[in-house]
Amino acid sequence: MPSEHRPLATRDRAVWEAICGEMHRQQDGLEMIASENYTSAAVMEATGSVLTNKYAEGYPGKRYYGGCQFADRVEELARERACKLFSAQHANVQPHSGSQANMTIYLTVLEPGDTVLGLDLAHGGHLTHGMKLNVSGKLYRFVAYGVDPQSHRIDFDQVAALAREHRPKLIVAGASAYPREIPHDRFAQIAEEVGAKLMVDMAHYAGLVAAGLHHNPVPVADFVTSTTHKTLRGPRGGVVFCRQEDARAIDRSVFPGLQGGPLMHVVAAKAVCFLEASEEDFRAYAQQVIDNARTLAETLAAGGLSLVSGGTDNHLMLVDVTPLEIGGRLAEEVLERCGITVNKNMIPFDTRKPMDPSGIRIGTPALTTRGMAQTEMRQIGGWILEALKSPDDEACHQRIRHSVREMCRQFPAPVPPGCEDVLSMPAAASLPSQD
Ligand SMILES: *Cc1c(COP(=O)(O)O)cnc(C)c1O
Repeated sequence: MPSEHRPLATRDRAVWEAICGEMHRQQDGLEMIASENYTSAAVMEATGSVLTNKYAEGYPGKRYYGGCQFADRVEELARERACKLFSAQHANVQPHSGSQANMTIYLTVLEPGDTVLGLDLAHGGHLTHGMKLNVSGKLYRFVAYGVDPQSHRIDFDQVAALAREHRPKLIVAGASAYPREIPHDRFAQIAEEVGAKLMVDMAHYAGLVAAGLHHNPVPVADFVTSTTHKTLRGPRGGVVFCRQEDARAIDRSVFPGLQGGPLMHVVAAKAVCFLEASEEDFRAYAQQVIDNARTLAETLAAGGLSLVSGGTDNHLMLVDVTPLEIGGRLAEEVLERCGITVNKNMIPFDTRKPMDPSGIRIGTPALTTRGMAQTEMRQIGGWILEALKSPDDEACHQRIRHSVREMCRQFPAPVPPGCEDVLSMPAAASLPSQD
């Protein structure tokens, strides 16, 4: 057989083994990173499709390449479904990532040196909201607002005061580590008062918005950006929403402003994702994500951990682990040994350093996709507490690891088409050990 027709398993054993190892890892452990999820088999199938071969620079009906009839159809489906899902006038589905989606707005609205308000990274903001090493922080003058020291909720008096003082051209709302619903309308009022545009980056909670369980920023914001791979449960990528009057400018900022050819296989998978997210099942899923987060937060709080803002309204929680006399870095490591994946995270007004902060961030979207519910959350919360209270007890971690594996077996994650066999093989056979 010519080498280009051979399956990956024989064509490139090293890469195949790494992918198989990752498949086992994803099935075998509790994935609680708040920004991750398991896509459906249909989304994976579209992502692995022949559309990866196609150049389609431009937009449907106005391409710079021939042979785009099917690429056009796919992109039209993705745009129409995205607009319907979020009640938007226009969607650009080409941004390769959430970061590219955010850069699209900056490129459209700002000149280098312009002033922007964004949430402080240490209070839950994202790199692309003005971190000094990120292009957003290098090109534009970001001024950070934060949360209130007592309530840990966004301090709107501060947002308004900073807006009046600095007269930003753009206000950026949205966060990566904020456990509460974001009141977009309050940002809109402040933006209107000072004559700024409002951009809402709903990357984390777009799935909750799609399900009608978080209010939708589209009606009140000038621009809305998102990822498609977090709570929305689609392929890794970005999307931008705007009003019809800004559609041309936004489209030009994506292409040719920031990107060349779109990833048409990913655009196809986004179309599938928008379809799935419009279905009744997805609403039930999103409600369960929230219910699970609430149950887990209550379990952790009852066991002596302190939660930023006292709890959660959405899919994630920020846990201050210092009451147990450990730091975030060790907490992340200990849980990893137990087969529970989370990430260390700064908490607001953290006195520790970013590489070993006071907190961990925990999310429920991925486990909820596997079908886990409140019973499992109570059990997992118990394991988290037990492990963090005995950070040096390896026998305890081994015991939890074993129970985690048992639970994972009862709740399999979606398997990519054609890979069923890989999972029936024990992880130990011919593969690097997953412990
Ligand atoms: C995840 C995230 C992004 C960026 O997404 P990438 O696809 O990783 O570039 C942007 N904004 C927020 C608020 C995010 O949480």
